[in-house]
Parts: sequence; structure tokens; C-alpha cells
Amino acid sequence: SVGLGALQLAHPGLQHHPRCLLCDQEPETIRHLLLECPFARKAWHEVLAWLRIPAPIPNCEPSLMDWWKHAKENTPLILHKALKSVALLVPWMVWKPRNSCVLDNA
Ligand SMILES: [Zn+2]
Repeated sequence: SVGLGALQLAHPGLQHHPRCLLCDQEPETIRHLLLECPFARKAWHEVLAWLRIPAPIPNCEPSLMDWWKHAKENTPLILHKALKSVALLVPWMVWKPRNSCVLDNA
């Protein structure tokens, strides 16, 4: 299936910051950044609502992949393609400002 590799987001070269650059509340981990950060949760909520996908936003899942499996089970087949777009778009929405924070020291 196309694009699922990107969901795994194993970034061996990632430099972790002591605190999340988006919310400044929690240690920065991939799990925090993509699933727990208030900024990410808002993005998940808004994109899912915008596309009218009834899947729940990430909550207690240990990884994005776990959320994906859970969300797919809770989403009608006709919306699976849209759900996959969400699963790629939201990490990008979160990752991009995070990286501009790092690169621009903003
Ligand atoms: Zn955060």
C-alpha cells in the first residue's frame, strides 16, 4: 500500500529537543510530536472534521501505526483513501513548523 512507509517515521538522525518546540510543555518525542502535542491534536481534529471522517483522533495509541490500524477499523471503506491522506498530511503539518522552529530558531 502506497505511503505507509512514511507513517513509520523512523528518523534515525532526529535530534531530540528537551522540550517540544511547538507546545513547550513536554519532552519532544516522535510520539509526543505526532500524537500527543496539543498542536498535533488540533491538526488531527481539524483535518478529520474537514474531510468528515468519523475516525477518532489519536489518543492513547503507542504509535501512529497503531492509530492508523484503529482508525481504519472505525472508518467506512469508502473513506479509507481519504483517511490515508490524513495520516500523511497531519504529520507533515506538524513536522513542517517543528522543522522551521529548528532551522530558523524561531
Ligand atoms: Zn508539544
